[in-house]
Amino acid sequence: LVSREFYPLDTVIQVRDVTIGGNEVVVIAGPCSVENERQILETARAVKAAGASMLRGGAFKPRTSPYEFRGLGEQGLKLLAKAREETGLPIVTEVLSAQHVDLVAEYADLLQIGARNCQNYLLLEAVGRAKKPVLLKRGMAVQIEEWLLAAEYIVAQGNEQVLLCERGIRTFETFTRNTLDLNAVPAVKHLSHLPIIVDPSHGTGRWFMVPAMMLAAVAAGADGLIVEVHPNPDHALSDGAQSLTPENFAAVMPKLAAVARAV
Ligand code: PEP
Ligand code: MN
Repeated sequence: LVSREFYPLDTVIQVRDVTIGGNEVVVIAGPCSVENERQILETARAVKAAGASMLRGGAFKPRTSPYEFRGLGEQGLKLLAKAREETGLPIVTEVLSAQHVDLVAEYADLLQIGARNCQNYLLLEAVGRAKKPVLLKRGMAVQIEEWLLAAEYIVAQGNEQVLLCERGIRTFETFTRNTLDLNAVPAVKHLSHLPIIVDPSHGTGRWFMVPAMMLAAVAAGADGLIVEVHPNPDHALSDGAQSLTPENFAAVMPKLAAVARAV
């Protein structure tokens, strides 16, 4: 169902008033985690002013260590909804388990499946039954073919609104957190009709590399980007090292528009 052979046109996904997979490059921005009301509202205003068209923020966080900040849970979802109300930006947030799908879908406009759950097939089927579009991140050791088959689990349940997200894979390189596989963009475009966006924040793990990879992703043909932005990255409760300040985010946006016009 997800192959281009099956459907030769491009799937276009509608998230409220935002169209993904059309002619526009869509930029989703926001903090890794929702931390408090002030942080999410301030970030939402800043990324909107810089030209982002959707807000990200984790409320249920998959953390490597159980002792790290694991998100505000439903309170975080409520704060995201408040930020949407104030700015009009649709919100994307991660759903960690099948039990949480109904709860997260009450608030989110786009349901994020994280890299760690890319092959959690019962969760994929659960979001496949939800009435909300799904952002499916590539697992850190998942091949392109396996990733498309993961998307197939969602679509097979009747939910055709699937957006793929390349976020870097594990390689022998340790300078970066992951190796951003931009090959995936033209590969997915060739194999599938689903739109694909790129996450240069998790793909690099280093904020100073993020602007360059944002531009490269768009040059490679990505339909959009998802970028971590935090008002005070040094004090972020998660992923500060890869988060852009609102100023750095605003600085790259005009360049992004120029690259988008060129491709
Ligand atoms: C995130 O978006 O903050 C996240 C946890 O991403 P990933 O699943 O790609 O690691
Ligand atoms: Mn993160």
